Amino acid sequence: MSSIKTKILSIYIFLISLIFIVAIVSIYSLYNLNKAVDGLIASNYKSIMAATDMLDSLERQDSSELIYIQVEDEKSIRSFYENQKRFITCLTKAKDNITENSEKRVMNDISNNYMRYIESFSKLQQTKNTLGIIEAGNFYNNEVYPLFLSVKESCEELLELNEVAMFASKEDASHTTRNQIYFTAVLSLTLIVSGLVVSILYTKKIVDPIHALIYGIKSIKTGSKHREIEITTKDEVGALANEFNNMIKRLTIYDEGNIRKLITEKNKSLAIVKSISDPVIVTDNNLNIILVNKSSERVFDIEEEKVVGNHFLESIDNKRIFDKIKSITKGDCNEENQVITIKKLEEVLYYIPNIAPIFDNEKNVIGVVTVLQDITGVRELAQMKSDFISTISHELRTPLTSIIMGTELLLTDGIGKLNEDQVEITEAMDEDSKLLLTIVNDLLDLSKLESGKMVMKFEYANIRKVIENSIRYFYDVAEDKGIKLYCNITEELPLVRIDMNKIISVINNIITNGIKFTKSGDKINVSAIKENNFIKVIVEDTGIGIPVEYREKIFDKFVQVDQVEVSERGTGLGLTISKEFIKRHGGEIWVENGVNSGSRFIFTLPL
Ligand code: ADP
Repeated sequence: MSSIKTKILSIYIFLISLIFIVAIVSIYSLYNLNKAVDGLIASNYKSIMAATDMLDSLERQDSSELIYIQVEDEKSIRSFYENQKRFITCLTKAKDNITENSEKRVMNDISNNYMRYIESFSKLQQTKNTLGIIEAGNFYNNEVYPLFLSVKESCEELLELNEVAMFASKEDASHTTRNQIYFTAVLSLTLIVSGLVVSILYTKKIVDPIHALIYGIKSIKTGSKHREIEITTKDEVGALANEFNNMIKRLTIYDEGNIRKLITEKNKSLAIVKSISDPVIVTDNNLNIILVNKSSERVFDIEEEKVVGNHFLESIDNKRIFDKIKSITKGDCNEENQVITIKKLEEVLYYIPNIAPIFDNEKNVIGVVTVLQDITGVRELAQMKSDFISTISHELRTPLTSIIMGTELLLTDGIGKLNEDQVEITEAMDEDSKLLLTIVNDLLDLSKLESGKMVMKFEYANIRKVIENSIRYFYDVAEDKGIKLYCNITEELPLVRIDMNKIISVINNIITNGIKFTKSGDKINVSAIKENNFIKVIVEDTGIGIPVEYREKIFDKFVQVDQVEVSERGTGLGLTISKEFIKRHGGEIWVENGVNSGSRFIFTLPL
């Protein structure tokens, strides 16, 4: 048997055969029952009816005889013979239907006695005709009546005989019925049970391999070890199981290849991480160390074997790095990368920590990778550059001051009058020297700021006063250029802790730029407000504005917006220095679009 279809079909055929057997047996039982009932009616009922009719005819004949004796009526003689005819008809019927053993004898008795009874009626007639009514009565009593009784008895015996036989047949029929019911019930029960058992066993045989297949498929889904399944059938499920086993074989080969590949990839990645020159530390969710590379071992004086599995702080004594890793592990990603210093014997190392979370498929942080970018060399270079600039600036300042003094002296006519050309040249020299001095001074400030040598003198000040003092000097210059300068501070502002000179320098720089990059008829408005925990100073002009792409760049060194024609050339360092000053105060500086046109410089100072 090969296919599932054939198997299911054979179960059906088997069950249909059982139903067929039950049906045949039931039909046979009904047939037997029918036969038993038929026998009951056919064999005895006819005889009973005949006997009853015979008795009736006999009674009537007897009555006719009695009437005949008393009345001598033609009618009674006719009635006697009519009933005789009826009796004989019934007798013939009864004789044709002899079923019981003793019935034949009874029948003979009835025939013989009845014949004599008939004859006795003839004699009765003769007696009455010859001897009269009284003798006829006597003859009736002595001869006829005993014959009547004997015929009647025999008829009654026939009736009883058949009644008894009928009861016996009824018992037989009941017995047969009972037997048939028992037989049919037992057979049906046996067949139902066997049908059930065979169906269950057969269905199990079909379904078991399917279950094995489902189990196998589930084990692949859950990723547990792939196992081949036993093939027990040759049907479609068997074929499927065979294909499944082929697939498992291929999967196992594929998995082994994949695992090999994964291990190779992992080793490669590990080798890459280990060979990175910057220190790398990988921690898990509980801030335990999972991996450190050679560079980390060198920088923190640790050994990987000893620290793996330990808590970060147990192995690496650096609270700042730990705090950063902790905050990233908690999901806080907005940590600013501030420089971290690590002291090793005599040298100081500078690092920028780059910390990135590792996510699982559900986007949960499961660990953190920390790469410490070594900027010690860069710092040293910057220091050298700053020192160099500061030395050069310092050295340039003295000769530049003498040049400016010289050109100013020449232009004041103190040592002789210059002709027009000479004045022009000297003025250009004066202007350039002053610009150069400004650049030198700015560079000096910047290098001081960058190297941290700039000393800040913080004190509490009223920002309104600071702004008003700064702006005072610009009213005339602005008016000369046809520009309207306003100071618009409406609310009472709290004192703020600042280095007054630095903030004045920032305000001066922004207002100078404002005047520089506006034309006659424009406006400059300076205001200050309190917002959250900050004082916000806003300088808004209606000048030429700053293109979007320059809004961040103008705070970088020497950046000036191209194609801007200005009367006075600048250094491109003013906003860079201003930004550094504001940063030192813990605030921020940025530029936005003016409300209508122009630009809007804003800086904040923390309260
Ligand atoms: P400087 O003014 O000496 O050139 P800054 O650092 O102060 O240097 O400014 C850098 C550049 O930013 C300026 O050269 C100018 O192009 C642009 N800038 C600054 N302020 C304004 C302003 N209010 N309107 C238009 N451009 C400005």
